Amino acid sequence: MAEKSGSLSITSENIFPVIKKWLYSDHDIFYRELVSNACDAITKLEKFGMMGDYELPDDYKGKVTVEVNPEKKTIKITDNGIGMTEDEVDKYINQIAFSGATDFLEKYKDKGSDDQIIGHFGLGFYSAFMVADLVYIDTLSYQDGATAVHWECDGGTDYTMREGSKDTIGTTITLFLNDDCLEFANEYKAREVLDKYCSFMPTEIYLIKANAPEEYEEIDPSDKKDTDKVIEEIHQEAEYEDKKKDDGTTEKVLKTPAKDKLKIVKRPVPINDIHPLWTKNPSDCTDEEYKDFYHKVFMDYRDPLFWVHLNMDYPFNLKGIIYFPKINSEYDSIEGTIKLYNNQVFVADNIKEVIPEYFMLLKGVIDCPDLPLNVSRSALQNDGFVAKIRDYISKKLADKLIGMEKTDKETYEKYWDDISPFIKFGCLKDEKFCDKMNDYILFKDINDKYVTLPELLEKDAASHESDDESAEKKDDTQNEKKDDGPIKDEDKTAIYYVTDPKQQGQYIDMFKANDMDAVILDRTIDTSFITQLEHRNQHYKFLRIDADVTKALSEETDPKELEEDQKTLDEIFKKELSKDDLTIKVEKLKTDDIAAVINRDENMRRMNDMMKMYNMNGGSNEDFSGPETLVLNATHPLVRYLVGNKDSENAGLIAHQLYDLAELSNQPLAPAEMSEFIKRSNQIMEILTK
Ligand code: ADP
Repeated sequence: MAEKSGSLSITSENIFPVIKKWLYSDHDIFYRELVSNACDAITKLEKFGMMGDYELPDDYKGKVTVEVNPEKKTIKITDNGIGMTEDEVDKYINQIAFSGATDFLEKYKDKGSDDQIIGHFGLGFYSAFMVADLVYIDTLSYQDGATAVHWECDGGTDYTMREGSKDTIGTTITLFLNDDCLEFANEYKAREVLDKYCSFMPTEIYLIKANAPEEYEEIDPSDKKDTDKVIEEIHQEAEYEDKKKDDGTTEKVLKTPAKDKLKIVKRPVPINDIHPLWTKNPSDCTDEEYKDFYHKVFMDYRDPLFWVHLNMDYPFNLKGIIYFPKINSEYDSIEGTIKLYNNQVFVADNIKEVIPEYFMLLKGVIDCPDLPLNVSRSALQNDGFVAKIRDYISKKLADKLIGMEKTDKETYEKYWDDISPFIKFGCLKDEKFCDKMNDYILFKDINDKYVTLPELLEKDAASHESDDESAEKKDDTQNEKKDDGPIKDEDKTAIYYVTDPKQQGQYIDMFKANDMDAVILDRTIDTSFITQLEHRNQHYKFLRIDADVTKALSEETDPKELEEDQKTLDEIFKKELSKDDLTIKVEKLKTDDIAAVINRDENMRRMNDMMKMYNMNGGSNEDFSGPETLVLNATHPLVRYLVGNKDSENAGLIAHQLYDLAELSNQPLAPAEMSEFIKRSNQIMEILTK
């Protein structure tokens, strides 16, 4: 073959500066591109072999070798795949247009930054020039009578091509690294990058360091393979030791029997797993395999809680495994990783255009060969196909959770605290997911039992059975619109909740004493979550346990009966406390031993919590939780004392103390109020001792 040189036919001036600029942030990606080309070449040859177009040698085994040579500053990537003829090198390499690079260039010429480009598929071979000043291709095609080709190019637009010396079928790409990129010839760096991108590619990949000293291992002779290079046959004599007998004499007993071993050159171990678990049939995978895979891929020593194996062929191809990780404590940052693959080639972690935000609390792998990864991210976002993938995964996850709730409730409850942030976040972000999960969301109640929303509402309805209102309130857990306009707040079923079981202990006691239930919602996400549930369903309303206890916990009384008390107590508290936005309300509480409780307006309080959460209160610690109501228990002796002795010198002390005590069991006192409270408590004790 005559030496041939020419110009690479690319339509733009010079593609290399463009490649360098765009792919700058992902320099290491050249490894993925070249190794996946090598794997493809092998897959093609195997396919020809299978179809009878080519006779594969009996002992054929596809193999990619990456050889790094830090001294020479080179990387060689060798495969025993189909190789290329001179024409093919010309067509696929010289005329870049064929491999889509020109299209790529045209499309993105005017678009800005790196992150608009995903995957960089289609650039393939030329990514070598991101790290190399000079690149060789040495290749021999599998075709009968093919001659070897040597191609070289120094990163300009000119190349030379001549007959080569490769004498085995396949291709070797040699990179002469530029000085900025020498790290890629470092064995450890190479392993790191190959682990990242090539861990699951479908052909065995071996990493070797040029001129590295041979390493050896010892094996049992029966394990010997034809490919093993034997260095030495070792015979180990049996070993004995002295053992004292009961009669004082010693005897020799066998310690280790005689053994033959073979010292061989260490067998190379591929860096990848060519049959990753997700490619297998779910029914063939064991729990142990799922767990091992999880530990290895996510470097999490803990076991996952459970997982969903995705396996879909139609209408699109998608396989993967999604794991629900264990969350150690509420302080653990719950950040997962979803690794995206395209035919076992790693693309990237957490591509938010494909994977919904809430899935990213989970850990998993998704392999979707049909994903159009060579388009920009913004285009992906609006891609209907991507939306279908999202819906499919979300449906599968919901199915798994619902199935578990139905058939293995005990486990579902056990995992609930770990999985609830995911489910709640999912409900906030995805209407369809929320629709599906609505009846399967668990609420832990004040008796440590888990209840679903329908159960909660049913319970509430049952407790009101005597009020004859249960009938209309049943079955209203799903979105329903009534024709006769919005439902008034007071007509809604109240679901009471606790945000801090310690602080709200007094209220919980009152609820328990009156056989009433409340649920615990103590996570940051809960405020948004219940607001969302209320938006979706008008028939119920969440009220914090301190929002309106009078409604739930006071006896029905004729308002006239308490009119006098109300007037007197109003007067005392207005005078003593001088708090303008405090309302005094006299009720007959069902719990005898409580003199006073504070009620806080639910909406104002929620708004205040939100503001605090998003730091919208300008960093001030001040509470804007709105007006309070001090509910006084008309039957309590202290309240009775006040009514009967409003002019007594102790009335002021008692009024203040009652208010502070009610406040204390609602929220911590401000520092100044706290020292007042302590001072006054001492004063009261002194009176007792007089
Ligand atoms: P892509 O792989 O996206 O098609 P590339 O620029 O990476 O683009 O490669 C262009 C073409 O060159 C490939 O489609 C293939 O036909 C050929 N090729 C590249 N590397 C090899 C190889 N190691 N063995 C055989 N053919 C190869």
